[in-house]
Order: sequence, then C-alpha cells, then structure tokens
Amino acid sequence: MKTTYQFRLYPTKENEKKLFFTLDKCRFTYNKLLEGLNNKKKRNELQHSLLELKEQFPELKDVHSKVLQMKNYRLFSNLRALSKSKKQGRKVGALRFKDRGFFKTFSYNQTGYEIIKQKTRYDKLKLSKIGEIPFIMHREIEGKIKQVTVKHYPSGKWYASIICESKTEVQKTTNEKKVGIDLGIKNFAFDSEGNHFDSPKSLHNSLDKLAREQRKLAKKRKGSQNKEKQKIKVARVHEKITNQRDDFLHKLSRRYVNTYGFIAVEDLKVSNMVRNQSLAKSISDVSWSRFIQFLEYKAENAGVQVVKVNPRYTSQICSSCGDIVKKSLQERTHRCSCGLEIDRDLNASINILKLGLEQSFEPLESGAIPSERKATSDDESGSQRL
Ligand SMILES: [Zn+2]
Repeated sequence: MKTTYQFRLYPTKENEKKLFFTLDKCRFTYNKLLEGLNNKKKRNELQHSLLELKEQFPELKDVHSKVLQMKNYRLFSNLRALSKSKKQGRKVGALRFKDRGFFKTFSYNQTGYEIIKQKTRYDKLKLSKIGEIPFIMHREIEGKIKQVTVKHYPSGKWYASIICESKTEVQKTTNEKKVGIDLGIKNFAFDSEGNHFDSPKSLHNSLDKLAREQRKLAKKRKGSQNKEKQKIKVARVHEKITNQRDDFLHKLSRRYVNTYGFIAVEDLKVSNMVRNQSLAKSISDVSWSRFIQFLEYKAENAGVQVVKVNPRYTSQICSSCGDIVKKSLQERTHRCSCGLEIDRDLNASINILKLGLEQSFEPLESGAIPSERKATSDDESGSQRL
C-alpha cells in the first residue's frame, strides 16, 4: 500500500542555498535535454548524455544523479502531454526552454534520502548532496520510503512529499487508466477525460428547503413550543441532506475507483479554501473532503492509487505549455497564447493529473527511469497516458 506524507521543511540558510542550486541545475539540465531532443536524440541517448553533461559541467556533480535523471522523465512526460493535446485536435506549439526560477520541484527516487530522528522538536531529512534539513515529523511514517519530492512554494515555504510503501499489500489493480479530478462549485467534479458530475437536483432542493426552514426558525419566539418543533424540522432536513449527499458521493467515488487505476485529486488541506459563511459553500467544502475520504478508502481496498496534489495554480497554468494564464472565477474557458482553448475545469483536471503523476513513483516502475548502468536499454514507454 502506498501512502504520501507531506511535511513542511525548515531549511537553514546553508540548506536553502543548496536547494535553490539544485532547482537551478534541474532547469539547466532540462533545457540541455530539450536541446538534445530537438536534435533528434532518443530517450536513452538523452539518459546517457547526462554523463557527458556532468563531464562538461562539473557543478552538476553536486546534484544527486537520480534527481537529474528525473528531469529526463519530466521532459518525456511533457512531451506525451503535448502529443496527447495534438491528437485531440488542439493546436499546440513545441516544448519551450525554461527560464530561471521555473522549476519548483525535484525528486529523489529510490535513493539519496534518509530520515534522521532527533530527540528535539525537529527531525532531519537528509538529502544526498544537499544535507540535513530540519522538519517536524507530525505523523509517523509507515513502510519503506520510495520517493521524496521537494517543493518550493511562492510563499517561500519548502515542503517534502514522501511516498512510502507498506507491507499490508492489497493486490494492486492492473487497470492502467489514469484520471485527474478537479472539484468545484459549478461542477462538483470535472475530470481530465472531460466527464463532469454535479450533485443531484434533489440535494439542491433540500438545500433550498433547509434555508427556508432556518429562516422560519429564526422568526420563532424564544422558548416557544413552535420553536422546538421547528428545530426538529430543521434537524430532519439536515439529516436528509447528509444522506442524499453521502449517497451521491459514494456512487461517484465508486465509479472512479471502478474505472481507473490511478486517481489524482486536489489536497484540500493545502488548498486555499475561502472560509466564508455561505451555506452552500460550507456544504460543498464538507462534500469535497468526504468525497476524497470515500475515494481513498475504496481505492485502498481495490488496489487503486490515489494521489493528492497541491491545487494551487492548477486553474491558471496552461496544461499544454505550462504558462500561467490568469483568469477570474467567471471566465469558464482557458485560452492560452499557445493555442489551447478548453474548459477551465478540464484544464485544471489535466494539471492535477500531471502533478499527481509527477508526485507518484508509479510511472517510474515501468522502467521510465533506468539506472545509469541500464541506460542502454530502450525504455520508451509511450503508451502512458499524458
Ligand atoms: Zn499554453
């Protein structure tokens, strides 16, 4: 069973210097690989060229080799996304070189990390070539660590997401279909296949009824029998809503778990949900987290992987070219200068799927990243979605 843990990192000045250095060398490497790709180099040739790059640019030796290899994976995952867009008849450009500061994440896969437990408040995450970074382990990790992804947020905060595999192994599904789901107000769920689902009309009717009954309740005289009666009425509508909502959420989560082997959703804990007092909004907040809860336990029992990603910017980033396309909540269409023009929620769900795949080590198991020694074998896994 796979579990992803998120921890805030508290790097020292010295740590941070190296973290930024690593991000920048990742960008440099990505651009070099893209250059190679443009010169018609094959995937395994590019993998090999990393060794040459290190000779040419010795400072790359100060970055863990798996971290650089992941950039080749990233390049091909971007390429697949591009060709998928093309196949769907969208107008797309070529992959672009990335400017300074573009990359916010890097990953260690299988090697290069260690957790050092301390007696103090802070434990340490030891990353090869970077050092020991203080963090607070607010949750015990179960199982063996498979991948560590470090991410820098615009707020300046650093996080590590740690993917573990534990022994209690449910037979992993053979279903290779992958999906990203965007949760929203207009559509309850919108996925990367273009399907969207709204909560049932009956639920909306009950919500209207609840609002009506609550208004009536407010008008009843304090301590009166009528007020007590009305309270019960309101409680009943509440119950009905819970049942209708759970029924919908069970059906929807069941549908996704039965249809897909890999599901990426947003991590609501880190989403910047607006805490307003609107009833409809507070109910949808609860529905989203319940949906994910239902999805997770159903998935766990079915051997389906669910990955939670930080939803920040998923509605703004272009799922085809990676540029930021600012838009207000009212704008329902994502229109990018690269030519991509799709529903904003579809764009967001594709981004969620991409982030989920990046965070998970799932795609790597198919040999997408061979070790340096095995790099001669052709590992084109072009059948991957995205
Ligand atoms: Zn674009």
